[in-house]
Amino acid sequence: MKFRPFIALSLQTVVAFLALGGSAYSLVWLEGRREAEPLPRAGFWNETAPIVVVDAGHGGHDGGAVANGVIEKNMSLDIANRLKKELEAAGVRVVMTRSGDRFLTLDERAAMAGTHEAAAFVSVHLNTDGEGSGAEGIETYFAESKGLAARQLVSAGEGRTEGDGAEFARTVQRLVCGATQAENRGIKAREYAVVARAACPAVLVECGFITSASESVRLKQAGYRDKVADGIARGVVLFLQSRAARPGVIAAAAK
Ligand SMILES: [Zn+2]
Repeated sequence: MKFRPFIALSLQTVVAFLALGGSAYSLVWLEGRREAEPLPRAGFWNETAPIVVVDAGHGGHDGGAVANGVIEKNMSLDIANRLKKELEAAGVRVVMTRSGDRFLTLDERAAMAGTHEAAAFVSVHLNTDGEGSGAEGIETYFAESKGLAARQLVSAGEGRTEGDGAEFARTVQRLVCGATQAENRGIKAREYAVVARAACPAVLVECGFITSASESVRLKQAGYRDKVADGIARGVVLFLQSRAARPGVIAAAAK
């Protein structure tokens, strides 16, 4: 009987080691900033790959912002499509809220997180400021308090907590700014409906200012939009993989 605590500890240590090892490995892999480095291919998740809802902002009669020849609904869909491709290459399953020029309410978009039991929700938008403004850069929003429907789904779900939005936003913001070298405007808590009502960790990425003369030129280049999509995808995958490593198990084993 004296062996039991030792055996239990060993098992926990092995589990923690595997979890930490996987986590450290993905950190090294995902945070390499060499452009030629591809996202990790499938293999981390197999058939249990998480579902990510990718939401292209606006659509249909709602064009979003217009500046410097850019219509937000078109560019958000373009970046969302690139993001889908990157995520799928990393082995993640993707559900798009819209794949064409279609209007959806914010509730319809957010509800898709619950319908598909998504592990994460990413809304893609472009930012604006006053005419002649020099504001530029990328910022990522999360909701501090989830709506009632989202809270109920979260409490019914396994291991999904409300506090994950900030961590998710921080990870995405860091990696998308690393990939694009855009000005890092930080993460911001705001109760945007689409983020607050999604029943999973959710972020809204403002991918740059179309009102900025210089940033709008960059955003019009497909190569730059690829970098934006690549950076967001890296952030999403890193966040999901770090959660898959189950910090709770690591904490228990460390005792
Ligand atoms: Zn927008």
